[in-house]
Amino acid sequence: MSLDVLEQWDVLKCMQCGRCTGGCPVAIRTVLNIRKLIYQNLRERKKWLQSKDIWCCTTCSTCALRCPKGVNIVDYIMSLRGYQVERGKIEPAARDALESILKHGNPWGRVREKRTEWIRDEKVKILSEGDSVDTLLFVGCTPAYDPKAQYSARALVRILNEAGIDYGILGTMETCCGNEVKRMGEEGLFEMLVEENTELFNKYSFKRIVTISPHCYNTFKNEYEGLQVEVIHYTQLLRELMESGVFKVDEKISKSVIFHDPCFLGKQNGIYDDPRIVINNAISGELIEFDRCRERSMCCEGGGGRMWIEVESDMPRTAEERVKDADYSKAEIIATSCPFCLLTLSDAIKTAGLEDKISVKDICSIISDEEEGSTEE
Ligand code: SF4
Ligand code: SF4
Repeated sequence: MSLDVLEQWDVLKCMQCGRCTGGCPVAIRTVLNIRKLIYQNLRERKKWLQSKDIWCCTTCSTCALRCPKGVNIVDYIMSLRGYQVERGKIEPAARDALESILKHGNPWGRVREKRTEWIRDEKVKILSEGDSVDTLLFVGCTPAYDPKAQYSARALVRILNEAGIDYGILGTMETCCGNEVKRMGEEGLFEMLVEENTELFNKYSFKRIVTISPHCYNTFKNEYEGLQVEVIHYTQLLRELMESGVFKVDEKISKSVIFHDPCFLGKQNGIYDDPRIVINNAISGELIEFDRCRERSMCCEGGGGRMWIEVESDMPRTAEERVKDADYSKAEIIATSCPFCLLTLSDAIKTAGLEDKISVKDICSIISDEEEGSTEE
């Protein structure tokens, strides 16, 4: 059976060059050594590899991008996780997140009725069955419930309102997209979410879906096979609105800004330019770049279910390395465009004691209101 997985994901092509482990952001601070794991599995082809080390993976895809033999390392890891999940071998916090998605439609243990509590005085159309709009704004679980990420949702709807976009949200009907569910190996729950969400989407009429999170974007775009509608990330929409002159930033931000590429936007979907073009339209200075940016960008350790899976290490988290690099570059704001990056980098700023020097903001928060989306709650 294991041999099927090795064949399915081209693991048999591995030549043990180690480029995967060399590029892996967590290889240096955790027990995960993906080259070694593959080696073990190649030696014992008939057995399912049952190492716990695979739970350190953030599914960032750096390894897969660097592999010269095209091994589908991330899919392979997800299959191995699936085997363990089926046997109940999963961290309690990750299991709770999955159960919460099943029960409440979100991984944060929050009730469905509170899914729209992020809205304050913003005018937001909540769609009813049969409604027709140009754009469906898929808010996502983290911007809907997390107090810091809620700033991004409010900032984005303020921009959409100002630009006069005909959009609506699903309100309390919205349910988790399942991107992290799939990455935690719960394929059955993921398939259920795909079916339910596709059915739900079919009750309304819209031309495209805009997501706040690159994780929602990734799964709707690449993993919802029956979804016959355009899916874009909000930075792509903002670029379109800015370039067509529909939306303009009146007062440019003078603080120094550095951009952190979210893995599910950049490495996994090749969207590197849109966020940069949007930021450059909103700041007066020049955008600072990390040494490791674009394809080489360093993962913040927020993906692949790692928001709910703690790993042992006596070394700082990669997000902490990231904020120290940003501070070294004299940036005052780390811009990102992903709710998980926002949370991991925000925590890292506190851990590094850099609250007085630097903050992290979603790009829409930078544009919409300079004070919102900061590390202050
Ligand atoms: S980069 Fe690819 S070929 Fe090289 S060790 Fe890793 S999986 Fe094998
Ligand atoms: S997906 Fe990222 S974290 Fe996982 S093994 Fe590959 S490089 Fe490492």
